[in-house]
Amino acid sequence: MTAMKAQVYRGAQQLCFEDIDPPALEAGDVLIRVVATGIAPQDINHCAATVGEWPRIFGREIVGTIAECGEAVQGWTKGQRVALRSRVPCLQCDDCINERFSACRGYRSQITTAGLIPSGGGFAEFVRVPQYLVDRGGLWAIPSSVSWEQALFLDPVQRCLGAIARADLKPGQLVWILGAGSLGSILTLILNRFGIRTVITDMSPDRLDRARDLNAGTVIPSVYDDLHTKIQSFTNSKGADAAIITIPTQHCLHHAIDGTRRGGKLILLCDDPFDRMQSIDPCLFSRRELSLSAGFTLAVRQRHLAEELICDRRLPLEQTISHRYSLEDLPIAIDRASAEVTDTVKLVVYPQVE
Ligand SMILES: [Zn+2]
Repeated sequence: MTAMKAQVYRGAQQLCFEDIDPPALEAGDVLIRVVATGIAPQDINHCAATVGEWPRIFGREIVGTIAECGEAVQGWTKGQRVALRSRVPCLQCDDCINERFSACRGYRSQITTAGLIPSGGGFAEFVRVPQYLVDRGGLWAIPSSVSWEQALFLDPVQRCLGAIARADLKPGQLVWILGAGSLGSILTLILNRFGIRTVITDMSPDRLDRARDLNAGTVIPSVYDDLHTKIQSFTNSKGADAAIITIPTQHCLHHAIDGTRRGGKLILLCDDPFDRMQSIDPCLFSRRELSLSAGFTLAVRQRHLAEELICDRRLPLEQTISHRYSLEDLPIAIDRASAEVTDTVKLVVYPQVE
């Protein structure tokens, strides 16, 4: 195979559109011709920041066709349509047995790659799925009734389901979603589908308009300094039963603490550094019996439910796509999504250059 196009990360805010060699396969690996890649919140933050070493190629929400199978691969054939899970735990180690999946060595170290330092690789024309992922459910055969763009949501839907599971919701409870970006919008759709009431807040009027279009329960601009009092008054001074924070800002965390009821749950659905955090008094948590948990891991128990929801035509995930870009224009997409108040929700890149 000749060279392929890729967007190579070469330091903060330096994406270079380059010709590189396609990744070489080992016997148990599968090569994917990438049809589309969803831009995840981590991709946006990683491209804008200084992340470890480079060169590397980001992009972890990938759909495509199998271009080649290593000679030891069984059960997969060239031409099949697949969606990829970026990370999969081994389910055998001590951490997995104790359900600390994100601590699993395989979960942390094994990821799809377009070559260079493995980092997802979806911002390139071809990616290699290592044998570890092929053997453990990293590939999902897309049913013929499911579109490419619907299948793109496999990874983020599974993450959102993990966060919802951590909220341990009861009938009639209210979930406050902080942030109407891609994860916030997906959460809204899923919770609506489950019949759970939601309120969603964001700084961006464009994002809130889109949330209204998705039939989000209640939409409140988060420009207010007293955002939590708006939630309190909306809930008759009770507070939300759970708050799921999708945007890592001090503003969001402080308001979530103050706008959640006694005994309520705060869940972080983000893994990027918070902006200029000041200290938070831990007594706030003990006095009001709040719990804070991280729900960003690609949830194992929700794997099959994620597949079912992707196939469910009543969950219009592709309606969260606000912008589509060619691979060459990825830096424009990242810039647009990085703005302090952005109109972007879900962004998708189409890597094939032809
Ligand atoms: Zn493990």
